[in-house]
Amino acid sequence: MSENRIKGEFTCVVCPNGCFIEAEYLEGGSEGPKLLSLAGNQCKRGETWVRQEIETPMRTISTSVPVHGGDFLLASVRTAEPIPLAKVQDVMAEIRKTSLNAPLSIGQVVLKNPAGTETEIIVTRNVAAAG
Ligand code: SF4
Repeated sequence: MSENRIKGEFTCVVCPNGCFIEAEYLEGGSEGPKLLSLAGNQCKRGETWVRQEIETPMRTISTSVPVHGGDFLLASVRTAEPIPLAKVQDVMAEIRKTSLNAPLSIGQVVLKNPAGTETEIIVTRNVAAAG
């Protein structure tokens, strides 16, 4: 596979400064995308963030799951830790197959290691049993 040199533009989200960062990276190599250079970041944290966005992007999922026998029909859930962007669709597919029974409490684990990721899906809303 041939490697392509790509120019990308990023707005750093690590702090409120929101630095505009221009980066060059290689794509198509056997080891995945690789950061070559960047400009515009005011600090090292911006470089770390851009490197992760290019080489190993991570995301947090927030969604909801149907609840049986509760005072709400849905419970909000999220990943306890960010997961690789490439796994988001697989994790969402597992969450979509899930339903829960009330009562539920914040922090309760719904799924462990969905799609082989190193996270849990946890409840972020209390749902009491329907009276
Ligand atoms: S590069 Fe540094 S100063 Fe700029 S937004 Fe990111 S964290 Fe903030």
